[in-house]
Amino acid sequence: MSVLDLARPEIRTLQPYSSARMEAGGGQIMLNANESAWEPTGDAGLGCNRYPDPQPDALLQSLAALYGVRREQLFVGRGSDEAIDLLVRAFCRAGEDAVLIQPPTFGMYAVSARIQNAAVIEVALAADFCLDVHALLAAVTPAVKLVFLCTPNNPSGKSIPRADIELLAKALAGKALVVVDEAYVEFSDQRSVVDLIERYENLAVLRTLSKAWALAGARIGSLLAGPEVIALIRRIMPPYPLPMPCVAAALAELSPSGQAMARENMAIVREQRTIMRKALARLPCVREVLPSDANFLAVRFDDAGTVYLRLLQAGIVVRDIRRYPTLQDALRITIGTPEENARVLTVLNKEST
Ligand SMILES: *Cc1c(COP(=O)(O)O)cnc(C)c1O
Repeated sequence: MSVLDLARPEIRTLQPYSSARMEAGGGQIMLNANESAWEPTGDAGLGCNRYPDPQPDALLQSLAALYGVRREQLFVGRGSDEAIDLLVRAFCRAGEDAVLIQPPTFGMYAVSARIQNAAVIEVALAADFCLDVHALLAAVTPAVKLVFLCTPNNPSGKSIPRADIELLAKALAGKALVVVDEAYVEFSDQRSVVDLIERYENLAVLRTLSKAWALAGARIGSLLAGPEVIALIRRIMPPYPLPMPCVAAALAELSPSGQAMARENMAIVREQRTIMRKALARLPCVREVLPSDANFLAVRFDDAGTVYLRLLQAGIVVRDIRRYPTLQDALRITIGTPEENARVLTVLNKEST
């Protein structure tokens, strides 16, 4: 049995769109794609009058090196959001199949599933936000095609132990694709599980340049998985998912100097996370600061609603996460610059007096 047997049959047999850019490139006079022959004003020599390479070599090479995979194990799309959507569309038959999530968690898994009319099976995280592996396995029905695991989890900040992920991949072989969303792994002490894709063909990993790599605005996210899954996703990707200016921004960030700068900032975030966690925990209005492996802290307050408004009045916008049943007293605060974090503490100190 191949992992592809889990995919929608009509996707497996789909004749993909063949774009002009895919059929032929490299000529001197390109008259096959109805593009303008003239470069636009102000595109800094990028040549945006031409359609972009659907999966540009240079970017694939940089990202494959960054993540430690081979190019055929990598799909690059418009943020990991696009990869989530394409996975759901490739694996879930509308009205029949399901995805499994563990709330409280990132919202896009359920949204993408509902857009596809796939059912959403929820296995709530335990009170300490740990994943109950056995409860999860017990909830897997034959309809479940995708199991999303978010580590470190948004919004709790908690990581899933590597051993649990491996156990799930093993137990679900031939049954479901385990999709590990590592959007915040760069801020964690726990290393990526990407090496496990060599061993488990039903394991996929999502990575993004949106958080640690400072490129939320460029929308560059990656799916790392076995070559069969990647080839399947490439069959249904939009014809030209990666705009040239976004690819250029990613290549600059992934250059040696770009990486050095980004890594310095990641270290600052980790340092500031410790400082903020301690300082927030000392405030009288704070009930609890959840331990976090990510670039944010989930903080429980005596009166989260009032704190949210006080921060807002001071021009500071945090995320109200009270809609999650187990976080009804909590706000999620992203770690900013040291100055921004100090402002948060100043406002909250006033709140407490
Ligand atoms: C922010 C976030 C994403 C979205 O990443 P993009 O690459 O910007 O689409 C994915 N997963 C989680 C858990 C996130 O918090």
